[in-house]
Amino acid sequence: MSRVTPGRHGRLPGMDARTGPGDVEEIVCRDLVEVVTGYLEREMDPHRHALVEEHLVICEGCREYVGHMRRTAGTLQALAAEALPDQRRSELLDAFDAWAKGRRS
Ligand SMILES: [Zn+2]
Repeated sequence: MSRVTPGRHGRLPGMDARTGPGDVEEIVCRDLVEVVTGYLEREMDPHRHALVEEHLVICEGCREYVGHMRRTAGTLQALAAEALPDQRRSELLDAFDAWAKGRRS
């Protein structure tokens, strides 16, 4: 005894206005906090990247947040580059070469 009721679940939770064609997509501040790392490292799909940039245009708080994160990330990268002297770097490259040769044979 099972009754199918077509149309009743035509709109699943999660398939809301965001996924509908022609609807305005947007992200909110909470989304931005979650994706900011991917945004800064350019590891998100271009469509979502564009949504983040749109949000930054209208939201000063997130603009400041992303600016702060960008500066922090840049500082960390600069520190990491300085903390790795040339000798240590070539040691790592040698080690990688040896590893790569070992895998090839
Ligand atoms: Zn925001």
